[in-house]
Amino acid sequence: MKTIGLLGGMTCESSLVYYKRINELTRERLGGHHSARSVMVSVDFGEVEPHMERGEWDRVLDAMLDAARAVEKGGADFLVLCTNTMHRFVAEIDREISIPLLHIVDATAAAIRQAGLKKVGLLGTRFTMEENFYKGRLLERHGIAALVPEKEEREKVHRVIVDDLSRGVTDPAAREEYWRVIDGLAARGAQGVILGCTEIPLLVQPRPGRLPLFDTTDIHARAAVDLALA
Ligand code: GLU
Repeated sequence: MKTIGLLGGMTCESSLVYYKRINELTRERLGGHHSARSVMVSVDFGEVEPHMERGEWDRVLDAMLDAARAVEKGGADFLVLCTNTMHRFVAEIDREISIPLLHIVDATAAAIRQAGLKKVGLLGTRFTMEENFYKGRLLERHGIAALVPEKEEREKVHRVIVDDLSRGVTDPAAREEYWRVIDGLAARGAQGVILGCTEIPLLVQPRPGRLPLFDTTDIHARAAVDLALA
């Protein structure tokens, strides 16, 4: 079994889910008392988040490179960034470490293709929805088109992540707001929706008769176990 390297803390709410899922899935696969071999380096999100909001990306990158190096030093065989947003730095991180990185977009794209879909909605932080690192990789590497909500809705989706979900708060009104946004994406032709922030699945779960949702936390954790046991 390979050792899974988790770069966590962004936020701790979803890092908990990663840790739980990789261990549950490993036990399901191997039985008995088996659990995943892993190391986690968890950053203090309170030190990272203000730089993100102010667009001070050099500061954020420094923190990511430090943490990635520490994961490698800890004995990991590959790196799992437990956040969608920080995948904006995969090129820089790849250059810094010698272990491979398991990309969340590639794992999610595989699940979307398996479901036979080609056009999906994307919810996540403002950065994930608006920059090209996520949508670009989906389209260029996997032939999947991603639609994002309109500006005002993107801002609401982002604020719920940062103000509530990142601090362990789930508000039923925010859940219904997310479903209004998801239904809007469906009306524009989305065949499914990527929950492209690792905390969103803590708020939104699939509903019968509605669009399929792609839970990036679960998909990524599953891909990590597949790779660890391959
Ligand atoms: N976990 C989030 C993601 O997957 C980022 C957390 C945040 O920026 O509040 O992108």
